[in-house]
Amino acid sequence: MIVPFLDLLAAQSSIQEEIESSLKIVARSGNYILGRELEKFEIDFANAMSAKQCHGVANGLDAIYLALKAAGITEGDEVIVPANTYIATWLAVSRCGAIPVPVEPLEDTYNIDPQRVEDVVTDRTKAIIPVHLYGQPADMDSLRIIADRYGLFIVEDAAQAHGAKYKSKVIGSVGTVAWSFYPTKNLGAWGDAGAVTTNSSSISREIIPLRNYGSVVKYENDIKGINSRLDPMQAAILNIKLKHLKTWTQNRKNVAKQYSDGLKNSGLITPYVPSWADPAWHLYVIRHPERKEFQKRLHKAGVNTVIHYPIPPHLQKAYARENFVKGQFPISEKLANEVISLPMCPAQSDVQTNYVIEAVNKLV
Ligand SMILES: *Cc1c(COP(=O)(O)O)cnc(C)c1O
Repeated sequence: MIVPFLDLLAAQSSIQEEIESSLKIVARSGNYILGRELEKFEIDFANAMSAKQCHGVANGLDAIYLALKAAGITEGDEVIVPANTYIATWLAVSRCGAIPVPVEPLEDTYNIDPQRVEDVVTDRTKAIIPVHLYGQPADMDSLRIIADRYGLFIVEDAAQAHGAKYKSKVIGSVGTVAWSFYPTKNLGAWGDAGAVTTNSSSISREIIPLRNYGSVVKYENDIKGINSRLDPMQAAILNIKLKHLKTWTQNRKNVAKQYSDGLKNSGLITPYVPSWADPAWHLYVIRHPERKEFQKRLHKAGVNTVIHYPIPPHLQKAYARENFVKGQFPISEKLANEVISLPMCPAQSDVQTNYVIEAVNKLV
């Protein structure tokens, strides 16, 4: 048997034709920028995430960047980011001309450590970007206390957390949140797409022109915006997929539960879920001290895995000029060496999941 890491076609098989028909409608509408499909998605996604407003943008990186810009983050500001995230979180800060200030994660949840956040706050700190990594909600209440104490803006990076809940509240129902609909995310388009949800009318007022050349009224440009609009074809796809997000999240939860039950005697570190967290299980990440060999053994047995992520941002060439050194963020570096993501797909069958469990227990 071969268990794919993620089978996008299998996951959408029941709605394949519905999506293709919806694309035909857009194709024949003669309207290919913004428009009704996007407006519908913005309303429905805001409702689904219990947010007041949703603004579709071109991708997840732009969503973080535009949320920061809307909050006034600029040249020389410091923005606190997780040391162990996908590099997009950092790049959004750098694109504002601001400085990403990395903070180590907690060793159990892999999410940013609020205690350490407070340690790096300076006069120049303007914002924090918690990432709900792997779909696990970050400890938002603790971060909110620190943000309020120092007047910091919070942009949540929820690119992996569609449908996750923190203390029974869906991510997106509080604050300003950046989303990605990259095809492999829990809610994925057939190309690039992203959004910002917010409960703040002032953030909304900034983002609407920022994503559209600084314009609200056509050919009147009030600020120096960018072009970052969610494509109507992608919006049409997302409109159909959104109706299935709850079911897909439940399926992911079932897979995660089977993994956690089946691997509890494996000797490996499996995901820790605090009592207040209801993760969206974008990824099911375990750890192995000799990951490379372990991954090879799994691959030979037909179990496909992926590493999220092998090199932390501070050790990437992109950030060489910032003079970070190896060993500076030991928890993040250790995680980068040990993490391995097991197959996770809403269409994954019990047979496939059990096959993975058996293979991991045997090949550990
Ligand atoms: C995918 C991802 C992004 C970026 O999203 P894109 O749509 O690919 O630009 C940002 N942050 C995290 C944590 C992600 O996983």
